[in-house]
Amino acid sequence: MNSVAVTVARCPVCRAKVVEQLPGEVVIRNAILKVDAPTGRVSAKCARCKAWVEVPLRYVG
Ligand SMILES: [Zn+2]
Repeated sequence: MNSVAVTVARCPVCRAKVVEQLPGEVVIRNAILKVDAPTGRVSAKCARCKAWVEVPLRYVG
């Protein structure tokens, strides 16, 4: 059986699981995202405490 590397990004405020990064895909637990236009950095909103958590994605559109 293959071991699957999973990176989990948690909210720094309440420790809720916000992003799960699996090989080949990134699962964002809450669909509310925002993009910082100049840099393309993406943040996801914590479902529990509404804090913004930076996610390992880049908006390139
Ligand atoms: Zn939170």
